[in-house]
Amino acid sequence: MQYPQEFAKLYIGPSGRPVDCAPAGRTTGAIEGCLGHGWGTMEISFTKNIYIKEREAQEVAALRDEKAFPLSCHGSYFINLASEEPAKVAQSKTRIIQGARRIQQCGGHSIVFHSAFYGKLDPAAVTQLVIRELGEIQDQMRELGIDIWLRPELTGKPTQHGTPEELVELANAVEMVLPCIDWSHMHARNNGSWNSYDEWCRLLELLGKGIDKNVLQRMHMHVSGIEYGAAGEKKHIPLPQSDLNYRELMKALKAFDVRGTLIVEAPDENQIEDVNLFIEAWESA
Ligand SMILES: [Zn+2]
Repeated sequence: MQYPQEFAKLYIGPSGRPVDCAPAGRTTGAIEGCLGHGWGTMEISFTKNIYIKEREAQEVAALRDEKAFPLSCHGSYFINLASEEPAKVAQSKTRIIQGARRIQQCGGHSIVFHSAFYGKLDPAAVTQLVIRELGEIQDQMRELGIDIWLRPELTGKPTQHGTPEELVELANAVEMVLPCIDWSHMHARNNGSWNSYDEWCRLLELLGKGIDKNVLQRMHMHVSGIEYGAAGEKKHIPLPQSDLNYRELMKALKAFDVRGTLIVEAPDENQIEDVNLFIEAWESA
């Protein structure tokens, strides 16, 4: 099995198009906009629908190749691989496969999604259900010739499946799975802890030792300023207004020679400033 390739360095960019690009413009324009800002990557948002058609995907892939610009997508928000209703599980799988197919056509490397809610089930039972469904998704993707990473995300609320340990289990059980590590979610789902160099190093160590796929050179990550409480994530806020120790985070990533893509999920009003802050912090870490 050949995995999608490793990354030569860490690429940093926004979730969604740059806010100063035409809102209804084409995705190639959004990529050009990122390049104009000196940004290295972008996550396309298929959270509400897959808005790029097949024909446009070919243009996106051509530009992606020309500029060596890594692309990922965030899959549908309407996913629960552990739903009690079989129809919802089936729809969730279809949505992941359709998003995966389109981002592959765009030349992308990964699709991110929130796998499941615990509901009334025991977390370990949910992990087993998610493993089974991801295995079936992988089988169908292989039949369709889709070879991108499935990236279940480290989620922001204690009601959602997706702790670091659970993600390690998924990655070890299903070949095409690697986690999407959302550092701000880790901080928020634990009500404000996980905000120091040492804690982040511990998490990187857990991944590096727990998953045998060169995960630290194939990382896909999310980060943003975040507001939280006892129930975890409340909302994304501008980085300067948040308590996230992002400079220490960048130091931890550098200490572990982390490569891949870091997606900044900033609120629109602060998107440009926040992406630039992360790039500056990474370069000076
Ligand atoms: Zn997400």
